Amino acid sequence: MDIMEAKSKDLNDWLQRRATLRIEGRAFIDGAYRDAASGKRFDCISPIDGASLAQIAECGEADVNAAVACARRAFDRGVWRGLNPRQRKAVMLRWGALMRAHQDELALLETLDAGKPIADTTTVDVPGAAYCVEWFAEAIDKAGGEVAAADHHLVGLVTREAIGIVAAVVPWNFPLLMAAWKFAPALAAGNSVVLKPSEKSPLTAIRIAQLALESGIPAGVFNVLPGAGEAGKLLALHHDVDCLAFTGSTNVGKQIMQYAGQSNLKRVWLELGGKSPNIVLADCADLGRAAQAAASAIFYNMGEMCTAGSRLLVHRDIKDAFLDKLLVAARKYSPGNPLDPTTSMGAIVDQAQMERVLGYIDAGRDEARLLTGGARVKRESGGFYIEPTIFDVPDAQARIAREEIFGPVLSVITFDTIDEAIRIANDSEYGLAAAVWTSNLTTAHEVSRALRAGTVWVNCYDEGGDMNFPFGGYKQSGNGRDKSLHALEKYTELKSTLIRLR
Ligand code: NAP
Ligand code: MG
Repeated sequence: MDIMEAKSKDLNDWLQRRATLRIEGRAFIDGAYRDAASGKRFDCISPIDGASLAQIAECGEADVNAAVACARRAFDRGVWRGLNPRQRKAVMLRWGALMRAHQDELALLETLDAGKPIADTTTVDVPGAAYCVEWFAEAIDKAGGEVAAADHHLVGLVTREAIGIVAAVVPWNFPLLMAAWKFAPALAAGNSVVLKPSEKSPLTAIRIAQLALESGIPAGVFNVLPGAGEAGKLLALHHDVDCLAFTGSTNVGKQIMQYAGQSNLKRVWLELGGKSPNIVLADCADLGRAAQAAASAIFYNMGEMCTAGSRLLVHRDIKDAFLDKLLVAARKYSPGNPLDPTTSMGAIVDQAQMERVLGYIDAGRDEARLLTGGARVKRESGGFYIEPTIFDVPDAQARIAREEIFGPVLSVITFDTIDEAIRIANDSEYGLAAAVWTSNLTTAHEVSRALRAGTVWVNCYDEGGDMNFPFGGYKQSGNGRDKSLHALEKYTELKSTLIRLR
């Protein structure tokens, strides 16, 4: 189904489709679905209404060992990396096409599983993941190595080789897309992959494994291990995993580095949390547009965004005018059933995350002034919904203004000078993204240079949804970059080959 068709569907169409949806919950190891060796399963709960969607295999040590062993066999035999680049490209292009052909099914799974609006899963998550696969497929037969300068008696080649077994451990906020950002470049580089989705959102990862096989990815090259954090830990401690690519919280990222140190010093790449500052200077040319972007920066995807613009820094002179517009813009994000294509804010991923966010809102009531929202809504649905919430925070040191909430909660901080804004913006353990709104070109350059963040937006927020820009963080927002050709660096080893001619 193409995007136009998806858009023309209404709530009832999606509910009907849900009624006949067959959901796979088993692990995918060595080219086949199977239960966890222990037989253990857990309930996959939809945050839309609290209903159980499926029973999911809870993978443990035996499954991790089986997946890593078959991934290693496939790698050693060269069934994937040994194919000619053009062949691997064709296979991955077919996989991307199959994701597009199954777009409505994948989008429905993602919406049911994670509570994300169907309007987004049909336009961002699924086509974005397919595009990522296609983009890295296209890179396969374009990448080459170097012939380095060397003494005359030598030829010196610098090449990149697949690293081996890449384990990808990913979060629940963009389950398919975050996974694709890892497995697409890892597979493009010729590696075998073991993917561990979050227990809160395993369904699309499990489904696309079958599509991988159909597209021609050989058995053992792409494996999916649903399960709890323990499965991620076992992968991070495994002596035969060569690289662990992680997206998730800073706390777990720190543990993963330790696991690598305790085991085989596998390469560890971390995309972690954020508390990104969105700075509106007094010379912002269009407060209306900036207010809409500020609302979207924190309320899109229920605020479950690593790049969420969760700290809004506003110049005192324009604060009142700006807040008026922001409060109007926030109303667009009234929570609704995510299966309704007109809904722009869906459900929080699960009860635990909802309670965590509500806990921060309670803390905020003591340290700041609530401007709007603050409550759980749609309780009668059985699902987990929170209103868009905005606090005016008098002290940038307040907990809600420092810690990542990962929900629809915005802290507004007032400043008087540009230097003060930069100081507050950089006074964070995180450095994932930042934005500045100004009509002065010099100010735009100077502020963006001063901001310690992996991505800086000027007069926009969250732009650049294509694959061309490296994505990742400074400081405790992580290391390494997803997206762009730079992502391939994470999944390859550099080799120098020196050939003596005489
Ligand atoms: P999380 O709790 O750190 O979990 C991430 C993944 O790690 C999940 O698959 C989780 O499995 C697994 N895991 C949990 N404990 C583990 C352990 N001890 N060892 C190995 N793996 C373990 O993060 P989350 O709550 O899913 O996601 C939210 C976080 O992700 C936020 O901090 C957000 O900023 C960050 N994020 C960052 C980016 C980025 O690109 N920078 C993008 C999206 C999200 P279970 O879920 O099954 O426990
Ligand atoms: Mg779920």
